[in-house]
Amino acid sequence: MAKPFASAADTDVKTDTLETLGEGIYALTAEGDPNVGAVEGEDFVVAIESRATPAASREWLKILRGQTDKPVRYLVLTHYHAVRVLGASAFDAGDILMSAASRDLVAERGEQDWKSEFGRMPRLAKNAEEVPGLTWPTITFKDRYDIELGGDRGRLELRFVGRGHTGGDVAVWHDRTRTLFAGDLVESKAALYTGDAYHFDWAGRTLDNVKAYRADNLVGGRGAVSRGLAETDAAVEQTRKFLNGMIENVGRFHKAGGTLREAFEATRDALAPAFGAWPIFEHCLPFDVQRLWDEYDGIEHPRIWTAERDREVWAKLQD
Ligand SMILES: [Zn+2]
Repeated sequence: MAKPFASAADTDVKTDTLETLGEGIYALTAEGDPNVGAVEGEDFVVAIESRATPAASREWLKILRGQTDKPVRYLVLTHYHAVRVLGASAFDAGDILMSAASRDLVAERGEQDWKSEFGRMPRLAKNAEEVPGLTWPTITFKDRYDIELGGDRGRLELRFVGRGHTGGDVAVWHDRTRTLFAGDLVESKAALYTGDAYHFDWAGRTLDNVKAYRADNLVGGRGAVSRGLAETDAAVEQTRKFLNGMIENVGRFHKAGGTLREAFEATRDALAPAFGAWPIFEHCLPFDVQRLWDEYDGIEHPRIWTAERDREVWAKLQD
């Protein structure tokens, strides 16, 4: 029997857990569903990531409002993916921030990504009809943008750390508490989605840049918060191990003139013992292997995923 497409059959509601990582520093994890965060300034809140829809974002805001009623002055979006940005309108943020590279990706492929991601992960697309349209930033930056939090709360540094999960990922660093919000550049016991990635950059200097923060708290895109240097290092290295496992196995078949399907099966067999039980492993892997195969083919700029192309690749590899 054919495997159900992507995460279409995943209907189990996940439990949200709010963690306080320092004074006014919050992470909301959700058993492998996308994480979000928030940082209190003296007079305002900086929200980090939206959820997939306004309704899903409102659920997060309701939890956050148990901690602070300060207005959301800034909404920081680490990258352009639909399930991270399309609930932005619920925040009523003064400004929405993204890297310039992410803005370009919204312009180029935001519409297609919306259809693709909501098709792959329908459970996250709660009340999807409320999404007012694509989410556009009001502030963009190329490499770095700082937000002074006021009082003695320190500052947030938003930095483009190199191409990785997408061409525009930003890490968000809080100096006072040594907390890093890494977006989907690091996952904690959740499979990596690399369908829009630059595998070689990501596994190399981009993760080196992430690791160089020497964070005490690391909030990745999915999974639990890592605490203490040993755990944050382990989260980075576990992400790198997933990438290197793909690079090795897909590369072997590509170089030998094998087929995409052979590369996919070998990669799945190689990664499954360590990563197969993690959320979205079977969902992500066909898209991941296809993108890496494209990179080996010399396709620099990731091809755009459409709902139709999603189904084609799925049928080619997972059926
Ligand atoms: Zn993503």
